[in-house]
Parts: sequence; structure tokens; C-alpha cells
Amino acid sequence: MSTHGESKPNHATAEGKARFVEVALPLPLHASYTYRVPTALEHRARLGDRVVVPVRRREVVGVVVDREADPPVGITIRDLLAAPDSTPAIPEPLLETARWMASYYGAPLGLALRVMLPRDLWGSSRVMVTLRNGDRPEVGGLAGELIGTLARRGGEAPLPSLTHALRRPLWDVLARLTMIGLVSLRCEPAKRQPAKALQRVVEITGEMLTLVERAERFRNAPKQRLAYETLEQMGGTVPVRHLLEEVSAREGVVRSLVKAGLVRIGRVPLHRDPFATDPGVAPPDRLSPRQAEAVEQLQGYGPGERALLYGVTGSGKTVVYLKVIEAALAQGEGAILLVPEISLTPQTVGRVRGMFGDAVAVVHSGLSDGERLDAWRAIRSGERRVVVGARSAIFAPVQRLGVIVIDEEHEASYKNGETPRYHARDVAVVRARTEGARVIYGSATPSLELWSAPATRLHRVTLPDRVGHRPLPPVEVVDLRTAPQVRGTGAVPWSEVMEAAVAHTLDRKEQALLLLNRRGFSAYLQCSSCGDVPTCPSCSIALTVHRAPEQLRCHYCDHRVPVPTQCAACGHPVQQARGIGTQQLERAVAERFPAARIARMDLDTTGPKWSHHRILSAVERREIDILLGTQMIAKGIDFPGVTVVGVVDADTALHLPDFRAAERTFQLLAQVSGRAGRGPAGGRVVVQTRRPDHPAIRAAATHDTDGFLTEELTARQSPPYPPHTEIVNLLVSGDEELRVGREAAELAEWVEALIQHHGLALQVLGPAPCPVARIKSRWRWHALVKGTRRDLGRLVRYLAPRLAASGSIRIHLDRDPVSLL
Ligand code: ADP
Ligand code: ZN
Repeated sequence: MSTHGESKPNHATAEGKARFVEVALPLPLHASYTYRVPTALEHRARLGDRVVVPVRRREVVGVVVDREADPPVGITIRDLLAAPDSTPAIPEPLLETARWMASYYGAPLGLALRVMLPRDLWGSSRVMVTLRNGDRPEVGGLAGELIGTLARRGGEAPLPSLTHALRRPLWDVLARLTMIGLVSLRCEPAKRQPAKALQRVVEITGEMLTLVERAERFRNAPKQRLAYETLEQMGGTVPVRHLLEEVSAREGVVRSLVKAGLVRIGRVPLHRDPFATDPGVAPPDRLSPRQAEAVEQLQGYGPGERALLYGVTGSGKTVVYLKVIEAALAQGEGAILLVPEISLTPQTVGRVRGMFGDAVAVVHSGLSDGERLDAWRAIRSGERRVVVGARSAIFAPVQRLGVIVIDEEHEASYKNGETPRYHARDVAVVRARTEGARVIYGSATPSLELWSAPATRLHRVTLPDRVGHRPLPPVEVVDLRTAPQVRGTGAVPWSEVMEAAVAHTLDRKEQALLLLNRRGFSAYLQCSSCGDVPTCPSCSIALTVHRAPEQLRCHYCDHRVPVPTQCAACGHPVQQARGIGTQQLERAVAERFPAARIARMDLDTTGPKWSHHRILSAVERREIDILLGTQMIAKGIDFPGVTVVGVVDADTALHLPDFRAAERTFQLLAQVSGRAGRGPAGGRVVVQTRRPDHPAIRAAATHDTDGFLTEELTARQSPPYPPHTEIVNLLVSGDEELRVGREAAELAEWVEALIQHHGLALQVLGPAPCPVARIKSRWRWHALVKGTRRDLGRLVRYLAPRLAASGSIRIHLDRDPVSLL
């Protein structure tokens, strides 16, 4: 490593033998760094301590990962500059978890550690140099200049400003001066944003405009209409900057809307914690016998054991988790409760708050860096013993961790989308083992991975009925190929059955949820007569339509065929399926039901998170009659007023080119159906599809989760897909399409050669373009490697440190991918 560049003699300490430590830095580097521990820091630099170290001309915060390292021979080693923690920032079990992540996912250890600490504890820290009081022997040269400068600045200054003032690197001098006790180094967090920082927001004023009024007002101002409607869809209040970015417009657009009296500009605190003042919801008075039994079973499991709480939607799983957590707290233990996304599950948070009050830390994306750090400290010190949060809360430094609960374990959001590409579900296993905690997974639609796990590794506890013996809602499947349709809805499929169901609900002043899954990024071909979709013969995923040249391609193995002119199944002339979006759906629904109050929720990747919270609250207060949106409305909401759930087109998710398409479709249908009929008024579900015979749709219609999972498990045998085999996805991306394809081919060849050479039980598929062939102007190709866990592990450990970026080309390794788009 070239980072130990400057030469400096290795002094021995007074006691004789110097101590060296290995430090992991939060950088994408697979190397470790050795530093010497100066006398002043002898009692620090423990395992898991943060330390400040020189790297080239900078100081960087790292973490000690080996406290008794052997000094490398032949290079000079520099000293640690500071060790600011009174207790190690990374407790040992977390360090061990990070080591496992590094090795399993092929991530640099420093990056695995980086996700464990709040940002304020990393690079933004500053080294402060302080002049010690007492006798000051005369020193000359650079040391003298340094002391003079410090004295002029009141005895203390940040290191970078001193380096700047003296125009020379100061490491060597500082090492000498700290050794003789003339100066000391200290690390302090960067300045925080003031808690009260305000930001400008734009808000809709008055009543929403009707469609007719909109057409009128915005006749010559499409940009204004777009801005207005985007604002509406984001919940009615959004930071000005965010709205302008979202619609790529300039400030003038907002000014025009203000002038027209449609919106106003206000100022609100930059960071708001919507949970800070929420008192929460009290738990139900008593458990049902089933729930009580589940609690008892779950409490009986020992340290390191895992259990799946498999309970239908509305079976009262949340209370069960809370009771188990309560018992852990009574034993002096702490707990972590993971939810897929905090802003979509405000009710769960409310219930946890209602039960544990101030013992709870809610960690969510709306916190400022400072608030995040405060929460982390409160958890690390034991002041807060229950943590609720999304994926990364799995790393919360809870003291005496006794229980980890992962709600809706099947959710894809538990997998991190960047390095380290960890899955919280699997990290939990390692963390629980190192801390002696229990893991409880909960779902109404378990992932195949957990559902098929042997009983020796995963206990199973079931809640087969809804609370209060409410039935699951009847599901009506409408065959779009034959069912009578309402005219005038354009491309939006809208059957008479759907129309009647929604109308009936509105008449009774109840609420409707309408789901339209985000359209596949890639178009598949579907026969409008029989509903057949051409799939790859060797990969069994839907083929994707390509334009130039016109053909169908498999995005796993790159199999290609010409676009057929006739359906292979029924001979009907084929047409490409047309896609519709939620905006079109909203227009169509608004025209059908002009008096209804409609809200739309679909910006799941870019929207400001708290608008979801606001829309959901409005639905809860029954200020909204129809909520429509993408899969995000299918999550854990519990609104008794919802009596109809409509799935507008169940086929979009079914034909994504992903081997999990059927599983995801089933989960989505079962989950969204689970939103209906939670109140005394009951409820029903209407599913529109062209494939009523598809196993995922049939099973969802009959609430037959086990039946679906059994069938799907068999379907994954040939060709083999998880859980019958394991997968690593190798992703190559870059600016130039041709080069990306070439690099992907070389990578696949290299992997193939490694497999041959080492006799690994692995198989390479591809390379092929990713189903989403381009993201942010970067082209993407991938290759899949399938095989046993052991051999994939060997491959990952060999390959990961050797995948160097070159030019614009980046290679990512994704072990156990949850999405292959
Ligand atoms: P799940 O997570 O299994 O879908 P929830 O935990 O959301 O179910 O519970 C569904 C509803 O039933 C919630 O409104 C909850 O407050 C209520 N509930 C749960 N347990 C009980 C109980 N023992 N008595 C009364 N109501 C309950
Ligand atoms: Zn294929």
C-alpha cells in the first residue's frame, strides 16, 4: 500500500515494545492499514474504537479491527493521531457481524463498518490540536512555529487550519509534541446543523381543483399543471426545491401558481420528527388465546434460535411482537424491531410507542444527522432499549440485545442496494448468534427461503385466523379477456364488476384502495385473446420486446427469437401489451366518480418520505374516499373504513423478467387483499387479469398461501432457482454500451475459467443486458452465477478484491440478489 508514504523512524515506547493496530477505513478498499499506537493513546485504541489516522495528507476516521497487529516489514508506519471514544463505538458482536458481512458479501470491511455508525461519527469529525498548560521548553523550527501559532489562536485550533497556516504536513511534529506532552489531539464531531433550520415549502391552498377547472386554468400552462398535480400527489406540501427538481421547472412556475392563488409559500423546520410528539396507540386490553399461545411459544426459544410467526393479514402479529419484547425488557434485555419502511408503517410505530413510551428510539430517514447521532448515543448508552427502524436499524448498538423482530420479512427492502449489499434478514442471524439474541420473523406471505427452511433451523408459530374471527375478504377474479368493460376509460382496464364495487363502497361512505403496479420497465408480449406470454425455454422468465433489432430477448441468458406474428398458444395475431400509469388511472377514476376525494401515492423512490405519512393519515381520518397507487399502498396499513380493494391489472408484476415474479405477484395480491375488511363493515377484493388460471392469481383468490408456496417451490426446481440453489449477480455498468457488453463477456469468461480451474460446483448464466438496460445514462449488463453456498463463497472471496473499476466501467457483486432488474 502506498498510504504509508512519508518516512518516519519507528520509535519504541518507553516500556520497550511498541503496539501496532490494524485499522479499517470507510473507503472502498480491500486492504487494511497498520498504525503505531503512541504512548499517549496506550489505553485507547481498543478493538472497535474509532481512531483518527493520517492517510496521505488527510486525517481519516477509522475503526480498530485488530489491536495486536504485527507491523509490516519494510515500510514505515505512522502513528494514530487520536482516539476519541471513551467506550468503543463498535461493540465486539457488531465487529464480528461486520467481518461476516465483509467475507460473505465480498465487501470491504471498512464499508461494512461504515453502515453501522451514524455519519457524524465518520469523516466529518475534526481533529483539534490543543496546547497543554505548564512549562514550555524552548523549541525551534517547525515545532516552534506550530506552538507560536497555537498560542496566538488561544491555545486551540483545528488541524487542517494549522496545516494550511504553516504550509507543511505536521504529522511528524505533532507526534513528537504529543509524546512529550506539549500538545494533545482530540477529535470532535463536525458542527451540527442548527436544529431549527427552516426551509421553504410550497403548499396547496384551498380546495383542490376539479378536472374541468384544471383544464380551464392550465390551458396554456402545461408546466404549471404538472407542478400543481405533482404537488397534489406528493401530499400537498413539499419543499420548493424538491418540487422544482421533480418536474424540472424553474422558480417562475411556482411564482405563477402563487399569483393565481393556488399555492402559497411557507417556512417549516428543515427536520421534523413526526414521531417526536406522537403519544402512540395503547395496545389491546387482552390477547386472543391464539396470540397468547404464540407469545408463550416465542418466549420459550433460547438464545440464537429463530422462529417464523406465520399469521394471516390482520391476525394481530404486532401485539405478539410487542409482548415478546416486553418480556425481554423485563429481563433487562433490549430489542430491535425492523419494519420495511417507517413512513409506510406509521401505525406500527404508534403501537410500539404506545407500549414502551420513552424506552423507544425510532430511527428513520426523516432524522437529521444530529438527531441520528443523538439516537445512536441514547441506544449505545442503554438509555433507549427498544429500537424501531428500517433495514439499517439491524446495526443499532442495543445493549444486551435479547430479541430481533423482522416484520414482513418477505419485503425486498431488507436488502441493501449498495455496497455492502447485505440482507437484514441474514445479518440478523449472525448478530443474534454473536449476542445470544432470538430472531422472530413475521409474515402473512413468507419468502420461499424461510418457508422452506427445515424445522431444525427455524421454528414455526402460526396465527391462522384474523383477530375477532373476521373472515378474510372474498376475492373476485375478473377475466379481462371476456368480462364486460365500462367504456370511455381509454387504455385503463375497467370492468363493470370493478365499477360496481367501487360505486357501492362510495355510496356507503366507505373507502376504496386501487392498486396499479408500476409497469414493467421492459415490455413483454401478451396475447390479448388467450393471455399467453412468451418465456425463455431455459430460464422460464418472460421474454422482453426489443426494438432495434426487433426481437424478443431473455435478460438472464440472452436467448433471442424474432417477434412472433401469431400467438404460439392459440394462433391469435399478437399485439404488444400497452402500458398504463397511475396518472391515467387517476383521470379515469376521477371521471367515473367526480364527487370522490381521490389521493394518489406512487413516488416510492423519489418522493419526500413524509408525504406518504400525510396521505395515509388523511385516509385514516377518512378525508379520502379512494386511495390509488403502486405497491406502496399494499403495505402494513390497517384502516377499518376500507371495504373494497381493486387490483387494476394483476399481470404487470406477473411478467417482470425476474424468477421471483410469481412470488412477488402473490405477495402483492395477498397483502393488498389483506387491507380489505378489517372493520365491522367487512370487505371484498376485485382482481382484474388476463391470466385467471395462473397459480399466483388462483392461490391469492382462495387465500391459499401454503398451496402457492408448495407449487412455487416445485417450479423453482428446474431450472434451479433459490431456495434450491444460491445466486450471485455480477453487474457491469458504464458509459459506453459496447464496452459494457464486452467487459461483461470477459468477466463471465474469467469466472468460467475460475470455476473450471478450481472445480467449483457453479454455473454461469449470461452475460445479458439487465432488464433495466440503462439507469442514469449508464448501460448495464449482468451475469448470474448459480451454485452451492460453499463454492459461491469461495468465488466471492477470490473475486471481490480483484474487481477493479477501469475508466467508467464499474463491476458490482450482488450475493443473494432480491431483484434482478
Ligand atoms: P397483522 O400485523 O397480523 O396484519 P395487526 O397486528 O395489524 O395484524 O392487527 C390487526 C388489528 O387487530 C389491529 O387493529 C389490532 O389493533 C387489532 N388487534 C390485535 N390484537 C387484538 C386483540 N387481542 N384484541 C383486539 N384487537 C386486536
Ligand atoms: Zn434465458
